[in-house]
Amino acid sequence: MGNRVPMIAGNWKMFKTCPEALETARTLVSLTAGVSDVEIMIAPPFTALSGVSEITGPTGIQLGAQNLHWEKEGAYTGEVSGAMIYSAGCRYVLIGHSERRQFFGETDETVNRKIFAALDAGLKPVICVGEDESERDAEKTFSVLDKQMEKGLKGVLPDQMGSAVIAYEPVWAIGTGKTATPEQAQEVHEYLRKILAARFDDNVAAKTRILYGGSVKPDNISLLMALPDIDGALVGGASLDPETFFKIISHKT
Ligand code: PEP
Repeated sequence: MGNRVPMIAGNWKMFKTCPEALETARTLVSLTAGVSDVEIMIAPPFTALSGVSEITGPTGIQLGAQNLHWEKEGAYTGEVSGAMIYSAGCRYVLIGHSERRQFFGETDETVNRKIFAALDAGLKPVICVGEDESERDAEKTFSVLDKQMEKGLKGVLPDQMGSAVIAYEPVWAIGTGKTATPEQAQEVHEYLRKILAARFDDNVAAKTRILYGGSVKPDNISLLMALPDIDGALVGGASLDPETFFKIISHKT
């Protein structure tokens, strides 16, 4: 396969004040000091990025933002650009998280613009895709993913995919305690890899990391990580507590 380094990423969503974020980061740094076989990334809220970066900067822990705007700068009150988050220490950025699609009107078109903004700023995009419950029930999972991947990745070149990560996050499994079964997750990840091969080439398909997200916990991570097309996890709720997140990183229950 493509020698993909596993990645465990934590999305802190809209949780943690600055002091709380710094304390969590410090604990995580000391817990993960001996970890070398997995890339760890955390995505704190914007307000804590710069402070957390001072703590994680000298370590192997990567920093990500949860969102960015597609313009470089301008009169866009309340928005944050790729260059801004890069300068705060980020090297990754989540794009198209289902909570952004659901509550903030993000579409495959805005996802596409944000991917280019991230690449322009030197950020690695973590592109989130996934079906909701009604789409799964109606057996539309694959067609939803086809559309999200086609429109989201429109115009992206194979070498630009070198820095991208895909996160498959079935919306019905996010924050609900429901996890896709290992079979369901593997089936979709394999499908996404086929889309990458068809849309780009076999090399991109083999090299691109595809993370699973949706109620990942210490007691389900091992089964998920054992699957051939699952290269890691994007963890929400269970990443907020550093001890729990460390158990996921080290695949311990
Ligand atoms: C997420 O926020 O990306 C996520 C998967 O959340 P949770 O792990 O809480 O389901």
